[in-house]
Amino acid sequence: MAVAEQNTVGKLVRIAGPMIEADGMLGVQMGEILRVGKLGLMGEVIRIEGEKIYAQVFEPTDGMFLGEEVVATGLPLSVELGPGLLGATYDGIQRPLITLQQSSGDFIGRGLTAVALDREKKWAFTPTVSAGQEVSGGDVLGTTPETSVITHKILVPPRVSGKLEWVAPAGDYTVLEPIARLEGGRELTMMHPWPVKVPRPSAKILPPTEPFLTRQRVLDMLFPIAKGGSAIVPGGFGAGKTVVEQAMSKYCNAQVIVYVGCGERGNEMAEVLTEFPELIDPNTGDTLMNRTILVVNTSNMPVAARDASVYTGMTLAEYYRDQGLDVALMADSTSRWAEALREISSRLEEMPGEEGYPTYLSERISAFYERCGRVECLGSKAEGETPRIGSLTAVGAVSPPGGDYSEPVTQTSMRVSGALWALDSALAYRRHYPSVNWNKSFSLYFEGLKGWFDQNAPAGWLERRQQAASLLQRENELNDIVQLVGPDALQDQERLILDVSRMVRENFLQQNAFSDADASCDLDKMFGLIDSILVYYEECQKVLAREVPLTKINELTVREDLARLRDEPNEGFTEKKVRVVESVKKALSELEIK
Ligand code: ADP
Ligand code: MG
Repeated sequence: MAVAEQNTVGKLVRIAGPMIEADGMLGVQMGEILRVGKLGLMGEVIRIEGEKIYAQVFEPTDGMFLGEEVVATGLPLSVELGPGLLGATYDGIQRPLITLQQSSGDFIGRGLTAVALDREKKWAFTPTVSAGQEVSGGDVLGTTPETSVITHKILVPPRVSGKLEWVAPAGDYTVLEPIARLEGGRELTMMHPWPVKVPRPSAKILPPTEPFLTRQRVLDMLFPIAKGGSAIVPGGFGAGKTVVEQAMSKYCNAQVIVYVGCGERGNEMAEVLTEFPELIDPNTGDTLMNRTILVVNTSNMPVAARDASVYTGMTLAEYYRDQGLDVALMADSTSRWAEALREISSRLEEMPGEEGYPTYLSERISAFYERCGRVECLGSKAEGETPRIGSLTAVGAVSPPGGDYSEPVTQTSMRVSGALWALDSALAYRRHYPSVNWNKSFSLYFEGLKGWFDQNAPAGWLERRQQAASLLQRENELNDIVQLVGPDALQDQERLILDVSRMVRENFLQQNAFSDADASCDLDKMFGLIDSILVYYEECQKVLAREVPLTKINELTVREDLARLRDEPNEGFTEKKVRVVESVKKALSELEIK
């Protein structure tokens, strides 16, 4: 990494929690990284007034004294990109937590620097280019097996181009050893730095036409999102945000997961650190960390680190997208990030916006979600070669105080993300999980995904989805009537609707994240479950038309078989379902008028 020839050195003139002021800093840039005080704490310039700068500091500032030196590094906040990221756990400024904990006990010592990527480890590099070839940003120089499931593509950094003068032979190299050299002498290694606040470029944005499957029925069937899209998951404390994000990390159809933990409380982050490495990848039976990166703010880090962690996570995610992979970025919770912005802003004595949040809150939140997308990756391709396509999908948890969605973070996030998965404390209280409220949630991606579901999901998918949604709608209307005039006012036909919509809620929308058979639902099972309930509904309507009373239908024991289908595993589900549906049909057809 190039360091400015002459570093500006100023003096600390004010310390206000996570923010400092320094004088004598002429020429320093916005966003530049500083080393503050004797400990050399990392800070970032966030305001400049002549020779005076204001900076947010990523580590606790206590015990520092006015007059201590502040050194400008000439560099923006950057991350290291290269093999070795998968499986790592970083703090907000990409310091590996494991290494740091080993070197300084349980708490991370201040001012400690540890490199993000191991300098000693050798990676087996296989070149895919040869000397004499012209290359430019995004071109693949070679590959290395990063983990048992992901082959890492070594890319020419964006904005770099030239003719290859030399390419290293296949062999083992560290991330610092050159693996290629351009004419003019520039050496390329398996690693390159990237400033976290600058979105990594791609060749072309593609329309969001493929689903990001979460294997959660309520989401994939009713509110599906696209690869490259984004969704927010707002919910009060205990509504199930973390469980949803972790279930998705495990089962979604992304190849790489970047999980950013901005915790409400310290022990929550400790849980992430212990639980995540224990998660098993359902596809391989191996650890999920083989394709996961954790970015976690530990409880002893100040608010500025939360701000950094969001950008760090996003940049790591973009880097794997650039390799042509589907990447999911989970952020839990974005409200803690917004609160960090609020705290820094108030320390800067900026004019506050709504509820004390800075006026640029919505700008920051939209810039974050705008970095999502399904793209044709940067890099040249030969005539007729299919382009490399990658996607970055983000799911951001939001924690509105008191579950009140009218607050600024929820409102802004709702405007800029493409889907709302609204968690409902009342549902969670009734143990209806995932507590996604089907009346309040929406997805703007559905229209664009219709074609995909029509082609790839089991036949009848769109129709069954529509029928399920309108049953739930009818249930609302009927409940209103019951509220007004009591249940006696309903006909059997209407009571049947209430009964079947209850089945839709309990046997379909509810999904137990802690049950092996139920936690992840594939499209066949999803369709089979809703289809079995709707076939039951249709058959019951025929029986009622023969003037058999609903009470007789409700006595049938086959209804229990229908309810138990939910606990059948994905494998072999359809056969099982066909058998149950046949026995239900038979039992219903045998009902006689009495
Ligand atoms: P939040 O992050 O919104 O505060 P959590 O995700 O930690 O809430 O969920 C709180 C509790 O709710 C969990 O510990 C679990 O017992 C229960 N829960 C949430 N979602 C599910 C689910 N899908 N299946 C079963 N239990 C769930
Ligand atoms: Mg949580």
